[in-house]
Amino acid sequence: MTAFCPYPIGMTSATMQASTGPATTGPDGDTILEVRDLKTYFPIRRGVLSHIHAWVKAVDGVSFSVRRGKTLGLVGESGCGKTTVGRTLLRLIPATAGTVHFDGADIFNLARGPLRSLRRRMQIIFQDPVGSLNPRMTVGHIVGEALTVHRIARGAERNRRVGDLLERCGLGASCMNRYPHEFSGGQRQRIGIARALALNPDMIICDEPVSALDVSIQSQILNLLSDLQEEMGLTYLFIAHNLAVVEHFSNDVAVMYLGKIVEIASAEEIYRNPKHPYTQALLSAVPVPDPTRQRTQVVLGGEVPSPIDPPPGCAFHPRCPLAIECCRQELPFLTQHAGCTPDHRTACHRADEIGPTTLVDHSCGTGEQTGKREDPT
Ligand code: SF4
Repeated sequence: MTAFCPYPIGMTSATMQASTGPATTGPDGDTILEVRDLKTYFPIRRGVLSHIHAWVKAVDGVSFSVRRGKTLGLVGESGCGKTTVGRTLLRLIPATAGTVHFDGADIFNLARGPLRSLRRRMQIIFQDPVGSLNPRMTVGHIVGEALTVHRIARGAERNRRVGDLLERCGLGASCMNRYPHEFSGGQRQRIGIARALALNPDMIICDEPVSALDVSIQSQILNLLSDLQEEMGLTYLFIAHNLAVVEHFSNDVAVMYLGKIVEIASAEEIYRNPKHPYTQALLSAVPVPDPTRQRTQVVLGGEVPSPIDPPPGCAFHPRCPLAIECCRQELPFLTQHAGCTPDHRTACHRADEIGPTTLVDHSCGTGEQTGKREDPT
């Protein structure tokens, strides 16, 4: 089977994005974070002289925007590079290429002083609520450390602020003198949230903050994050591997595969009209809370390719049930397709032919297996 490939050979992601405009921009145009063609590569060294033998392309040309006071969900399988994106934005990992502007400031070109000030405005909540808290420090010291380091408060004033933060996050101020091991997983994550809030940030990168928690606790933490966003006008970059978690939490969603964004749209649009086969496969794994409804899960064959030597063309083609010859040769770029909202962009050669139920029926009703893998041609 052959199909016309609409993309010129040799077109780079940067030129394609330039020709199609920003990956997503809020309707109000109030963008707080602007990421353009971000690349983070890690060298693999070998031999006595540690020569660079190859590069792990963890993040390979990612562009997106985050609207002020809103949440962008960044979703994908483990190892797709989403955590690396979050850490590169905070300059915890050096970027290989690309630009990141936070409220107009070019993060990668900031000197030490301005970067320190900017770090007060951008905080992170880590995935592991156990490993991210120093077991030798009391909760009061963990939450209040940033206040001391940034010379914002000391002594009684610092304790007062820490007490307020703990209360706000659903823990009593009396927890201040206790140690992390005395708390449950959900309570430890609340401590992590209180620490992230200590400097009164504008934006928080939530790096899979609920993936290590029980389902009942997950909803408590998500509700807390949602309440804090409303109360404090926070902006979130919410990293998760599960589309169900971000469904009711994000305003916009970007789906990553092997270091690239393959689909980006408003949350409502991506759940209503998923275009990329990978997004459809992720959505098919979301449980439906109704015993009378079933839908067939799309089980992707093959292995996730290595980011050291990604496949040519569309990196998803070895696992894609809709792959055609063009997919093996030409790299698809994020672009708008027929029947999509203006902010909906998909990197797939066949997106115009693919409907929301091409791989799986999301609206099925009576317990019948209705998933299908029809060929849209
Ligand atoms: Fe599948 Fe081809 Fe689309 Fe890639 S470009 S997702 S291989 S149909």
